[in-house]
Amino acid sequence: MRVGTGYDVHKLVPDRKLIIGGVEIEHTLGLLGHSDADVLLHAIMDAILGAAGLGDIGKHFPDTDERFKGISSLRLLQYTRDLITEKGYVVSNIDATIIAQRPKLRPYIEEMEKNVARTLRISEDQVNIKATTEEHLGFTGREEGISSQAVCLLENFYDASFMAASTERNCSGCSGCSRA
Ligand SMILES: [Zn+2]
Repeated sequence: MRVGTGYDVHKLVPDRKLIIGGVEIEHTLGLLGHSDADVLLHAIMDAILGAAGLGDIGKHFPDTDERFKGISSLRLLQYTRDLITEKGYVVSNIDATIIAQRPKLRPYIEEMEKNVARTLRISEDQVNIKATTEEHLGFTGREEGISSQAVCLLENFYDASFMAASTERNCSGCSGCSRA
């Protein structure tokens, strides 16, 4: 098993859509960035890449590359999944926090979790997303920006499939198994 962390910040500006976790959120301000500036997905991708020892999103999706201009970060997350699959890893679980004073994000959390789970081809209970404020303190509290933090645990693909097979199989009770 391998663990990785991710952190990201984007500035809040007028005339931009607010997209977090692949969900378009009703708000007067949006996040500024080269892609869709999805702060949550960027933190999650950095956590995944970090756990796999594959660097960070700046290395794989540079903001100088025209191919990534305005791109949905769900596409980048899909590409991140492909990168770790090539290295033989699967996501065991993700826990992430969005730090924003406004708007209220609770109504959107479930859809965000579904988007992340579907894109990574894992189940929804492997993705946990939380939202908090910083009590009007700092840049998030002043609504100048939104930040996000994430932790990801990866498993080796072969270990994960062995575990799945051994828990699904009905054990007849051999002497070499503690479940007998
Ligand atoms: Zn970002």
